[in-house]
Amino acid sequence: MSGLTSRADTGLWGVSTTEWVTTRPLDRDLDVNLVVIGGGYTGCSAALEAARSGASVALLEAKFIGHGGSGRNVGLVNAGLWLPPDAILRQMGESAGMRLLEDLGKGPEAVFRIIEREAIECEPVRAGTLHLAHSAAGRADLEDRYRQGNRIGAPLRLLDADETARRTGTRRFHGALFDPRAGTIQPLAYCQGLARAAQAKGAHLFEASPADGVVRDGDRWRVSANGHDVRAAALLVATNAYPRFVTGLAQARFSVVTYGQFATEPLPDDMRAQILPDGEGCWDTAMVMSSFRVDRAGRLILGGMGSAGGPAGAIHGAWARRKLREVFPALAGVPFAHRWHGRIAMTADHIPKVLRIGPRACAVFGYSGRGIAPGTVFGTSAARALLNDQPDAFPIPVQDAYSERFTAARTAFFEFGAAVAHAVDPLR
Ligand SMILES: Cc1cc2nc3c(=O)[nH]c(=O)nc-3n(C[C@H](O)[C@H](O)[C@H](O)COP(=O)(O)OP(=O)(O)OC[C@H]3O[C@@H](n4cnc5c(N)ncnc54)[C@H](O)[C@@H]3O)c2cc1C
Repeated sequence: MSGLTSRADTGLWGVSTTEWVTTRPLDRDLDVNLVVIGGGYTGCSAALEAARSGASVALLEAKFIGHGGSGRNVGLVNAGLWLPPDAILRQMGESAGMRLLEDLGKGPEAVFRIIEREAIECEPVRAGTLHLAHSAAGRADLEDRYRQGNRIGAPLRLLDADETARRTGTRRFHGALFDPRAGTIQPLAYCQGLARAAQAKGAHLFEASPADGVVRDGDRWRVSANGHDVRAAALLVATNAYPRFVTGLAQARFSVVTYGQFATEPLPDDMRAQILPDGEGCWDTAMVMSSFRVDRAGRLILGGMGSAGGPAGAIHGAWARRKLREVFPALAGVPFAHRWHGRIAMTADHIPKVLRIGPRACAVFGYSGRGIAPGTVFGTSAARALLNDQPDAFPIPVQDAYSERFTAARTAFFEFGAAVAHAVDPLR
């Protein structure tokens, strides 16, 4: 099957993807080295790495490859987390923090190398990203991030308001931090391409196969789906912000932020020549942040916190219209042809987690809005760590337990806060 279930949930990306892997639901018992639950970047990168190393691997995806965050995101391939470097070093300590910063700093290189090696058709553009100052305070924040980045060797450039206006096509911003390591992709196509490459190397992929039970059976893990069992020496749970209930598996607790996106039809050439002519992807320094980028066909894609549907969808939709008009006055009358949203798994400290479930079994989650390069890096390292029983292969230390309190309240607060911010101040 090619994953027709709810493809519409992925909005524009489901329409413009040309890479579709063909799989079928789990319909037999299987014995492999590694079983993966979840078919996003983390799971598919692990499956690809395992298959490339000659191991046997089975991946179970409840819906279709890329159904979660990996098929819905903005497509900014960032070199690092949302947190500035000093915050990471403070929270993790110098040695563990530097290891994570270095591994994630090389993340975009890893992503673009895989895209090239596997010939993945996902509109890769390695033109860097612009973190845009939405105010004078935002500009000061970027100056601080620039100093911190430089200290650890990140090749960042601080741009003044004029250069930012030339690159973006709007005078709305007070400057920008340019990261040449980064770029943009068509996110769902990248995920499908990872899966296709893994399958070509011998990975067994099963869509429409929700794992519903996990048990330890002698020295193996036994994962059930569709009334069949996959037995494996190693287990990776890669369900991030989209976990379904699985008997025998404790659910990790974290908050969820919903992020919505609105895309125009392809813009006329004269407008396209003005807006992001070099192809950078952008997001801003506002507390209730927003993002914009252009895809290969020349559609402008605007994103902001909050859901594009449901009860608050009308508020966020009206905000998107006002925001587009305010940032790009020439686009005031241009309608949105696509709208969709997705769930972001936010940990309390905004740092991803690797949680030990048992012998050679881990769950990886909590990229806190930065999962393209990190998901690729963590997924690839998960295959090495679990197949070789070397937890040090992960970019961060493996934890035996993780718990957060008040996650439901924080999730509601994020959604409510975004709706209020968008209703009250359209320019945020
Ligand atoms: C709107 C949005 C914008 C974002 N923008 C960016 C961005 O620009 N740059 C960036 O780097 N990151 C971004 N992110 C974050 C990034 O998309 C995620 O961190 C990343 O996709 C997580 O990948 P993953 O493989 O861990 O999880 P996911 O892609 O969410 O995959 C998890 C999969 O597990 C499956 N699953 C769940 N339970 C089961 C089960 N029991 N059995 C089988 N399968 C199961 C789900 O169906 C799902 O397909 C954004 C996220 C969102 C939602």
